[in-house]
Amino acid sequence: MIPVIDAFKCNGCAICIKFCPPKVMGLVKKKAVIINRMCEECGICADVCPIDAVDFELEHYSTVEANTDAYVKKR
Ligand code: SF4
Ligand code: SF4
Repeated sequence: MIPVIDAFKCNGCAICIKFCPPKVMGLVKKKAVIINRMCEECGICADVCPIDAVDFELEHYSTVEANTDAYVKKR
């Protein structure tokens, strides 16, 4: 998924912007924003945010795990 920034929580520290690998984050009115269509969905911004202002879930991985579980159960 594309991460979602909680604009009420974000304090504009810009740590996520420094760590975003493709550099698709910036500050608008002192809040972090993401250029969604260029985001690589790596989740690093959520990992490095010190106050949990970025909501991100690894849905791809959970889907793969769920599919693997279903496959293993069938055998
Ligand atoms: S998920 Fe990765 S690519 Fe997307 S905004 Fe966060 S750090 Fe940048
Ligand atoms: S690291 Fe968190 S608090 Fe800092 S700018 Fe990014 S989203 Fe906002």
